[in-house]
Amino acid sequence: MIPGVGPGGDEVLAELTRLRAGDAPTHGGRTLAYVYDSGLGDLDALAARAHAAAASANGLDPTAFPSLLRMENDLVGAAIDLLGGGQAAVGTVTSGGTESCLLAVLAAREGRPDVADPSMVVPSTVHAAFRKAGHLFGVRVVSVPVDPVTFRADADATAAAIDDTTVLVVASAPSYAHGVVDPIPEIAAVTRERGVRLHVDACIGGWVLPYLHRDVAGTRAPAFDLSVPGVTSLSVDLHKYAYCTKGVSVLLHADAQLRRGHYFASADWPGYTMLNPTLQSTRSGGPLAAAWAVVRHVGDEGYAALARTARAATEAIRAGITAIDGLRVLGEPDSTLLAVALDGEPGFDVFTVADELAARGWYVQPQFPYESSPANLHLTVTAANRGHEDALLTAMREAVMSAVAAGPVTIDDDLRALIGALDPEALTPEQFAGLLAAAGLGAGRDEDGDGQSGDPGRPMRLPDRMAGINAMLAAASPRLRERLLAEFLGTLYRPRTADASP
Ligand SMILES: *Cc1c(COP(=O)(O)O)cnc(C)c1O
Repeated sequence: MIPGVGPGGDEVLAELTRLRAGDAPTHGGRTLAYVYDSGLGDLDALAARAHAAAASANGLDPTAFPSLLRMENDLVGAAIDLLGGGQAAVGTVTSGGTESCLLAVLAAREGRPDVADPSMVVPSTVHAAFRKAGHLFGVRVVSVPVDPVTFRADADATAAAIDDTTVLVVASAPSYAHGVVDPIPEIAAVTRERGVRLHVDACIGGWVLPYLHRDVAGTRAPAFDLSVPGVTSLSVDLHKYAYCTKGVSVLLHADAQLRRGHYFASADWPGYTMLNPTLQSTRSGGPLAAAWAVVRHVGDEGYAALARTARAATEAIRAGITAIDGLRVLGEPDSTLLAVALDGEPGFDVFTVADELAARGWYVQPQFPYESSPANLHLTVTAANRGHEDALLTAMREAVMSAVAAGPVTIDDDLRALIGALDPEALTPEQFAGLLAAAGLGAGRDEDGDGQSGDPGRPMRLPDRMAGINAMLAAASPRLRERLLAEFLGTLYRPRTADASP
């Protein structure tokens, strides 16, 4: 879809603005996943200007672009100072949390060339990024169930799961799903004794927890960082609670030797010697410069205030939700994340509550039942929610009343039987189409209102109400859910070519 003669810049930007108007809002605290709002009015403009100033520079060669090298060393230094790294600690700026986690696994695998069939021991609540790492790098994932009540990793069971093939143990600070910090000192004592690496996934908590610790006089929140003996690496995302523009995370290693395995060099071609610290090769200076500017501008005191603010909002929302009949918060959240589940069997559907919140302009993220964790709604609370907790709680109370009125969602027996009989490994296009149709997403729908049903190649639009689909997905096994959603994703990503109407 390349226009013959392109429209003017202003017109293109106006088109972009119109497109963006259909998105979930990234500011104001109404989107309680995916986005992080500091509530500070000047940060966006600063980040945008810094981004623009360096977006064309290429981190592929730090000798050609020393400014990027300098900014990366500054950011890594800041992360080391905040997160207990010693004199020997080093780090790498990556494109995001998943890349940081991938590199931690890659470095661990490469550090043990003697292990033919490498594995990693993870709590079952570990972020899916580690499953991806296992998949990509051929590292077997040994998943250890967490405590069914606290949702924290079980240190003894973790110890028991370590064997001669274990190249890495992972723990979270906190976990994404429940927002609880794993018992990292206990796990670290074991990995240290066994001589196995321990990665702490502090992607979402690493820029919050240190400030909360600092704040509460006389109490020490659970230790989780590189100062804990035995922790060998730690990931922290700047594009989460450091409130930086998307595309920046930091992976720290306790020393340079531990980091070496994720560096890649190839001189085996006639071009430049490829030399990459991350999965990317060409790396835009934009996200790095934006993060550098934001971290410098907000400063330590600014982050301490933002962390306190986000935590206070979390506490207020948690207390308000706990007071609503039929809802409860899972576990004892340590940071700024909440998982909201049904309390007992109150006669309504938790995913209907999400739909009703969406109808009122609030986005919360459905989390499916997994092991001891029931179906629930994930809330990422940020500083921008402070002062507006009541607006969310009012919407939540109204949503629950509507969900009660709507009653529980039921899946009919035929559909349940169909889901139960499907083999995820052998899902056919016909079966997928049948399920889509059952979910009201069938290709037979008239998507563009032209009276013609079924426009092949048109991306599918999500219905306003997801509770029925979510109930169906919740009834599917995790493996089947993966397959179904991957198929669905493929229906969304359909090119708009020259003959598609604008
Ligand atoms: C967000 C997150 C990740 C993955 O980060 P992305 O930036 O989304 O790739 C990994 N671990 C935890 C705990 C996270 O919250």
